[in-house]
Amino acid sequence: MVLGEFDLIERYFAQVGASPSVKLGVGDDAAVLELPAGHVHLISTDTAVSGVHFLPDAAPNVIAYRTVMAAASDLAAMGANPEAMLLALTLPEANADWLASFAEGVRSASEHASLPLIGGDTTRGPLSVTVTVLGSAPPGHYLTRSGAQPGDRLCVSGTLGDAAAGLFLLEIDDTSVSAADLEFLHQRFLRPTPRLTLGQTLNGVATSAIDVSDGLLADAAHLARLSSVGLTIDPSAIPISVALRAYPDPAQARDWALRGGDDYELLFTLPSHAILPDDCTQIGRVIAGSGVHCDGVLNITGYDHFGR
Ligand code: ADP
Ligand code: MG
Repeated sequence: MVLGEFDLIERYFAQVGASPSVKLGVGDDAAVLELPAGHVHLISTDTAVSGVHFLPDAAPNVIAYRTVMAAASDLAAMGANPEAMLLALTLPEANADWLASFAEGVRSASEHASLPLIGGDTTRGPLSVTVTVLGSAPPGHYLTRSGAQPGDRLCVSGTLGDAAAGLFLLEIDDTSVSAADLEFLHQRFLRPTPRLTLGQTLNGVATSAIDVSDGLLADAAHLARLSSVGLTIDPSAIPISVALRAYPDPAQARDWALRGGDDYELLFTLPSHAILPDDCTQIGRVIAGSGVHCDGVLNITGYDHFGR
């Protein structure tokens, strides 16, 4: 079936999520969003390009879900309340099956991250997905990468390395991993969960935060640089899931936990007197100085689109 641009928008993207703050959504020249009185906007955007961020034949619902959740994770890292999102979609063709699956992924992520879709853009070209997320917070009451203080505890939510393992195990056929572990690790890559509630809990408590999208060492390096401090990480303290701990190659598992991206957990610093929230682990400390010191080695590595 051949769909025109406006049929396509109307059919797949006109009614995704709702909220009393959305005064005008998809369909007009601009959307209208009313934020809680006196709050500031927190805005972030993420692009996923075919052949760079996902394979051209990746499942459309997975592309959609992961792109929305990656963007939502940036709101989590700021401790923002999710308000709404915009979707800029570039498509080589308007294929109804592809779009139905993609829209299902958008709808599911919209619901899980409480982000109604209020607008966007649809154009023809090489497949690319850009999601812009809007959040809110009281003025000054949000988390940044820049507030870590020497003496703070360095902490992380959940477990690390699962998504990198899940991606690897989607691409190869590894019979040494149990079906249950395989399913868990696959889902950690395919359906990431941004830590929106935790971010809001940490708001006003943590001195700094970042989401782990590029890998623990890389994101810790960003936090250290922006806060003008050093970070020490005790590798034996890094939380590893039961499924990843069972992986037959422990050195590989450890490397995924240190360097693998896409977990969308929160890495944050807490003053020493603050209580560690549930499901979070202290993995190190903030020190005077610079860089990330892990196992006695200074580390600044991770994925860099323009790096060599
Ligand atoms: P304009 O030409 O005035 O910029 P468009 O024709 O591009 O408007 O879009 C019409 C309406 O559909 C707008 O409200 C726009 O925000 C919305 N829209 C377009 N593409 C998408 C999309 N992929 N997802 C959600 N809303 C979209
Ligand atoms: Mg217009």
